[in-house]
Amino acid sequence: MQEIAFKALSVETLGRRLGGIAAVADRVGGAAETWNIREVGDGNLNLVFIVEGETGTVVVKQALPYVRLVGDSWPLPLKRSFFEYNALVRQQQRAPGMVPEIFYHDEAQALVVMEFLSPHIILRRALIKGEQLPRIAEDLGLFMARTLFRGSDLSLTPRARKEDMALFADNVELCDITENLVFTDPYFDAPMNRHTAGLDPVVARLRADRDLKVEAQKMKHLFAAKAETLVHGDLHTGSVMVTQGDTQVIDPEFAFYGPISFDVGMLLANYWMSFFSQAGHETEGSRDAMRKYLLSVVEKTWSVFRDEFSHLWRTERTGMLYHRSLYEDQGDDLASEQALGHLLHEVWIEMLGFAGVEIHRRILGLAHNADFEDIADETARAQCEAAALAFGRHLAVNRRHIQSLAEINALAAALN
Ligand code: ADP
Ligand code: MG
Ligand code: MG
Ligand code: MG
Repeated sequence: MQEIAFKALSVETLGRRLGGIAAVADRVGGAAETWNIREVGDGNLNLVFIVEGETGTVVVKQALPYVRLVGDSWPLPLKRSFFEYNALVRQQQRAPGMVPEIFYHDEAQALVVMEFLSPHIILRRALIKGEQLPRIAEDLGLFMARTLFRGSDLSLTPRARKEDMALFADNVELCDITENLVFTDPYFDAPMNRHTAGLDPVVARLRADRDLKVEAQKMKHLFAAKAETLVHGDLHTGSVMVTQGDTQVIDPEFAFYGPISFDVGMLLANYWMSFFSQAGHETEGSRDAMRKYLLSVVEKTWSVFRDEFSHLWRTERTGMLYHRSLYEDQGDDLASEQALGHLLHEVWIEMLGFAGVEIHRRILGLAHNADFEDIADETARAQCEAAALAFGRHLAVNRRHIQSLAEINALAAALN
């Protein structure tokens, strides 16, 4: 088949262009001219269409050769769609049922056709509304443990692991976004930064904070150099779609080989930011119960992650690391448990560091989150953000001396 040069889809052209592809047409049903097509992308980077026909609905996600949020002044390669597709396929294998089903991928057109999640909504929006989701801690704790364990040298053969690392190593430009926007820009007066009026003194203090700036670069170093496993790479509450009974993870275009701790830290940071933002959403009643819920989600997510990771360690350690011949096969289960304990402790310390910088960049950098942005009263918003910044600073700088989530959650409650 001859490759046709990339062309962005539109509501007008999508039916004509995808109507001949069986993987799409058979699912949607009816003549392509009758399809109901909407563009619903609310992310920073890509186009997302919902395509509805006589028998079904699919989602078509297409990359653009630039950053949607900024425009064509900031080019970004189309190949991110290829990485998203490849990450989704692996996540589906490693954590079945937790990501949308994939029906079709066209590399040249940088598009993925996938299951339409309905009536799911974005987790971040649910949390802003004050909705408690009973399943997220369990589901996302399992998702992280399974994908992060099974993508690593603890599970894969050396060849499979290295081939995957090579495949995702080319996701340079999206890693570069994280490297700059998360770990560096927030800590100096970078051109694309912005922050709420009223935070100037707090921001000046953070940028003069030597210990913090050293820790932030240590986190960047880990992010760039510790190629442990295939991470989602953008696992915030805007990359999770939920109902009361189901949790689905979307948008892994930032996937690459990085530290196990990265996804965990990002996700928990977003729960803590939701916690600190609740005070700005109390116009229709107290959010005390919501705050309590969010801290319980943090604790449960970590404990489910830790327990499932430990379970996989004990039952699926088929990779080249910590081989059973050294431990269990010699009747020395304690050695294996000791090694597991060390590994989880490292993940813990790193996870806290990633959480700290993620909180900073969402308040000081380019890409803010709706939890805070939706607080219309700037004084109230600045108050929520200042508390979160202080909290993030504590995590990043003191991470080696923090013993438990109970300790951290108590600090969150005190700062709020
Ligand atoms: P971006 O990479 O631009 O952030 P996302 O993959 O996050 O794009 O998708 C943007 C939005 O499109 C999501 O916030 C969600 O509202 C919607 N969306 C994406 N994938 C699906 C899906 N499979 N089912 C339903 N809605 C989806
Ligand atoms: Mg997104
Ligand atoms: Mg499913
Ligand atoms: Mg994305």
